[in-house]
Amino acid sequence: MERREFIKGLGVAAVTAGVLAFEAPAVWAKGEKVMWRMVTSWTPGMPILQTGAERFAKRVAQLTEGRLTIQVFAGGELVPPMGVFDAVSQGTVQCGHSAAYYWAGKSIAAQWFTTIPFGLNAQGINAWFYNGNGLKLWEEVYAPFNLVPRPAGNTGVQMGGWFNKEIKTIDDFKGLKMRMPGLGGKVIAKAGAAVTLLPAGEIYTSLEKGVLDATEWVGPCHDMRMGFQKVAKFYYAPGWHEPGSALELIINKKAYEELSSDLKAAVDAAAAELNITMLSEFEKENAAALAQLKKEGKVQFRTFSKEILTKLKALSDEVIKEQIEKDPIAQKVHKDFTEFKNLLNPWAAISEKEYYEGI
Ligand code: CA
Repeated sequence: MERREFIKGLGVAAVTAGVLAFEAPAVWAKGEKVMWRMVTSWTPGMPILQTGAERFAKRVAQLTEGRLTIQVFAGGELVPPMGVFDAVSQGTVQCGHSAAYYWAGKSIAAQWFTTIPFGLNAQGINAWFYNGNGLKLWEEVYAPFNLVPRPAGNTGVQMGGWFNKEIKTIDDFKGLKMRMPGLGGKVIAKAGAAVTLLPAGEIYTSLEKGVLDATEWVGPCHDMRMGFQKVAKFYYAPGWHEPGSALELIINKKAYEELSSDLKAAVDAAAAELNITMLSEFEKENAAALAQLKKEGKVQFRTFSKEILTKLKALSDEVIKEQIEKDPIAQKVHKDFTEFKNLLNPWAAISEKEYYEGI
């Protein structure tokens, strides 16, 4: 509005001067400045996740020379952390940064777009998104909610969790009081664990007091910030339940469609950039935190045996079967996901696996 009036007010002399007569139509074509608000599921200042969302907003402003600016709100600042989906879906805000598996209550199929137990790793799920049907299916699943999804980060392989009891056989899960949300929680419940879903703020004290025997969280970087190394003895690998959790940018469909094609391209490009820079940051910060934990020497590292993992995989298959039986869309997504994984597996076995086993 202001800009149009400014140009109108310039008068004939300025326009006929040449430069403005050439530039003005471009200004009109690109339209007014657009201001968006973004909500996230992360705590204020949370490294990698919240800082990544803020980096995305800065990048969009830079790529569009300020024509699209995004004000970022952490979880609880505008809407609760688990209110992101509804806020963007209803158009209260234009976009959000979160994880699709939080929305299993809205759509069972959403979980496949973050991770499933024994699913794809980060590079596998990115290949599914960009070079398979992953993103197309994700768009299809989110369309009824007025949402446009974009992959926007990945944690990489998570850790298996913190335990105050050793897990030597699958039977050691019996009666184990563990915090583990989502499909992973359903799997260990089948193995006999007493699964609880405590909020983040209560996990530390519960482990300390013995109300919990175990918890999973993310990886060394975020786990150390929670202080779990002070209250748990054993740190288990691998995070079989989250082998590469993808994060999401969700955009209100109407807000996205109202953007000019160049602004849309800037949003998509910044999301793809965040997808790679966030994964890179997770890799580096987890490695640094692991080195720190080892240097402190207080935590005992353990890995789940092959036998335990095989049994957890069998229980995961049961859990997934139960999930997809409830929802034909989840069934369709799982079928495509599985076909893609089966395509990748033999390649991963002679490339990555052989390489890692040799070093
Ligand atoms: Ca986790």
